Amino acid sequence: MALSITVAVEVKLPLTSSIHAELPLLIMHFVTSDLPVLCLVQEEVKIFHPPNTADYFIMVRKTSSGFFTSIHEDMPLHISRGYDRKVLHSAYPSSSSSSPLSPQKEKRFSPEKYTQPYLDFMTKNPTVFHAVDAFTKQLEDAGYVHLSQRTSWTIKPGGKYYTTRNGSAFIAFAVGKDYKAGNGVGIVAGHIDALTAKVKPVPTLPTKAGYVQLGVAPYAGGMNTTWWDRDLGIGGKVLVKSSDGKIKEELVKLDWPIARIPTLAPHFGAAANGPFNLETNMVPIIGLDNSDLTGKAESSLNIPAGTFVATQPERLVKAIAGELGIEDYTSIVNWELELFDTQPAQLGGLGKEFIFAGRIDDKLCCFAAIEALLASSDDASSGIVKMVGCFDDEEIGSYLRQGARSNFMSGAIERICENFSEHCGPNLVNQTLANSFLVSSDVIHAVNPNFLGAYLENHYPRLNIGVTVSADPNGHMTTTSVSTALLSRIAEKAGSTLQVFQIRNDSRSGGTIGPMTSSRLGCRAIDCGIPQLSMHSIRATTGSLDPGLGVKLYKGFFDYYEEVDKEFQ
Ligand SMILES: [Zn+2]
Repeated sequence: MALSITVAVEVKLPLTSSIHAELPLLIMHFVTSDLPVLCLVQEEVKIFHPPNTADYFIMVRKTSSGFFTSIHEDMPLHISRGYDRKVLHSAYPSSSSSSPLSPQKEKRFSPEKYTQPYLDFMTKNPTVFHAVDAFTKQLEDAGYVHLSQRTSWTIKPGGKYYTTRNGSAFIAFAVGKDYKAGNGVGIVAGHIDALTAKVKPVPTLPTKAGYVQLGVAPYAGGMNTTWWDRDLGIGGKVLVKSSDGKIKEELVKLDWPIARIPTLAPHFGAAANGPFNLETNMVPIIGLDNSDLTGKAESSLNIPAGTFVATQPERLVKAIAGELGIEDYTSIVNWELELFDTQPAQLGGLGKEFIFAGRIDDKLCCFAAIEALLASSDDASSGIVKMVGCFDDEEIGSYLRQGARSNFMSGAIERICENFSEHCGPNLVNQTLANSFLVSSDVIHAVNPNFLGAYLENHYPRLNIGVTVSADPNGHMTTTSVSTALLSRIAEKAGSTLQVFQIRNDSRSGGTIGPMTSSRLGCRAIDCGIPQLSMHSIRATTGSLDPGLGVKLYKGFFDYYEEVDKEFQ
């Protein structure tokens, strides 16, 4: 995190066309000899016109990856030392820009400041329900008002709102103070669910050779081989009947290592090599019960038959009731629990360049989107609605009502339209959507140095560089030339670097919520995301600056979408 020392150097250069040719030499000269201090600083060369002067100010930053770029629009956009071919973008609006954000303000953006909050968020919120609860609490603290799906909405210019479904998906939006009917919505959306193992409806199993076990089922690709020998906790949502007869939803988190799926030692030969049966070979152990040998049985909780808790393992009922302070076990009428790796999210690497954590896909992009929404000034793009959507069920196809294929987001936009016109109908809704833009944000495969051959040449997303645009010729991504050009303009204005990813012809692309959401809404859209290693592993890796670099780009999208969109009309 200490990599970012920025040095500004004032250099007087003649305003001639020869500057184009001289610039690369100039930069190399700075970095290698005359000003050795510049070797300490990070990446990128940034240039901008101070208003009303003929001088250029040059700021040089260097990183381990060795990229340099100029940001002045009259300068070459990309000056590479022969590393990857990536498109880098400018840091500052040009002096003629009427942007409400001054270069000085942009310059102060520090991706580092989001690293520790991201680590804390990931450790504290292991389940989809905890993540949604934490985000919506953060929104409430920032003045966002909850809108129930069950009631009529009253939405005003300048208002900030959020709505939820199933406690596992939410949409937050800030209405610009100058918003008018028909204006667009700037959307950043991702998925908040992650691969896991869900507790079965009746998870009680007969004790086997002294082991108490728990019946769980994989959610998406959960319980893959990376789940062996991990320290697993249990958490999720519990439905509790209160004394007034109302059912309340409570969150529970037993975050010490409770469950474990033990490997078979290699000494057993073929049986240890797999393939493994998910129903019989990967049943977690959660305790011991040797009462068949000792004759000392645990005292029963005497739970009445016919109740929900009578179908659940007694020790689990006792632990969860204890955690929630529930004395009458039968007041627990149902629950939705899952296993999670209890290892905290941590910094890694010699220079702490990495983040090692579980469930990075796609809470990373959701985290960046929310932080960006909260960081975006009310004065920037005040004529649009800024919206973040975090959906459940992406890993299993998004078909449920809290998933991206549902009417959750389209319904929210229709309700917004209705609040701004007495004549709301398809005409206004479709006008609004045509003026809108979706940034579908899901994590992207960072390049793995041990498997370079699996990646498409010139499409190697690196860590700690920036958000990556993901393309796919067969429509698994929603990216188009127009959406790429639009996001590139925003990246230029925000000072963000965009990378690019596409899968090789001999591999098959994964999917995101991008195509389904953009086709449902009918708005222009792009797929992009923050790079990570080991997607769908129980323990993955991203760069320590990457959460903040995501915030930077998405904040730029919220800040600049309105003015950049005008260039595309
Ligand atoms: Zn994902």
